[in-house]
Amino acid sequence: MATYRQTLKNALVVCQQAGINEMLARRLMLELTEQHHLNLYLVDDEEIETIIFTEFQIGIERLCQHEPLAHILGYEWFFGRKFSVSKDVLVPRDETEELIGHILSDIDELFGQGELVCADIGTGSGALAITLKAEEPRCLVWASDISEEALGIARKNAKDLSSEVRFVLGDMAQPLIDLQVKLDICISNPPYIKNSENVERSVVDFEPHVALFGGYDGLDLYRRLLDQAPLLMKERSMMAFEMGFDQLESLRNEVEMRFPDSRIEFKKDINGKDRMCFVYFNC
Ligand code: GLN
Repeated sequence: MATYRQTLKNALVVCQQAGINEMLARRLMLELTEQHHLNLYLVDDEEIETIIFTEFQIGIERLCQHEPLAHILGYEWFFGRKFSVSKDVLVPRDETEELIGHILSDIDELFGQGELVCADIGTGSGALAITLKAEEPRCLVWASDISEEALGIARKNAKDLSSEVRFVLGDMAQPLIDLQVKLDICISNPPYIKNSENVERSVVDFEPHVALFGGYDGLDLYRRLLDQAPLLMKERSMMAFEMGFDQLESLRNEVEMRFPDSRIEFKKDINGKDRMCFVYFNC
């Protein structure tokens, strides 16, 4: 049997031939050894355990079929926590961690002490809602999704991470409007890819299209949520969205058309791409 190092080295060649990013193979090996309570850097030159070898080879085959690593593992890390994922939810992305970071600093800057009523619209795996509750326990957090399967995963994640979130099934903010909930903070990472856009195989073949595609310009779900905002938001409140890198002007337009007096801010992600939009009402 080969060592961990040699096994990984062989896999990198296979990945390269299949056009798969070799970082994925490295992460797969790191996660599998970690699951078996081994530190890869300490055991690198030891003979690989049979069970890890088998799991790793199966994983590499799946990666070469363009399956997302998170589907192979059954989880993805988000803001330092492990979230279960399945084909029914969007895999949480690094960019979305940045959105939470900005919201947490806005909470410190703009809102005083006391409870804040918040919602994550289209929660998917629950990553945004659960992280917000875990990082800022004074928030009362609602989360909606139109997919019952997604809510099943989100509920499991909330339970596993001991985070208390109120989940509701329905279209965007409608279930909250029906309950007459009024929000201080509304967060959403809606589907924003243009229907016509070319998307990587690992995304388009494996992730739920209901979480990806947002109509001809990708903004259908923002329009819906912005139309719902007057019934949903408190007088003094904020909305925070993730968005596509090329949607700054079109999204600004949608917001300004409806809320000419609001303050709008855009932020770039770590790759320098326009990625987040913040709308402030009276704050
Ligand atoms: N960031 C995701 C992607 O590029 C899309 C997420 C979304 O539509 N909300 O695959």
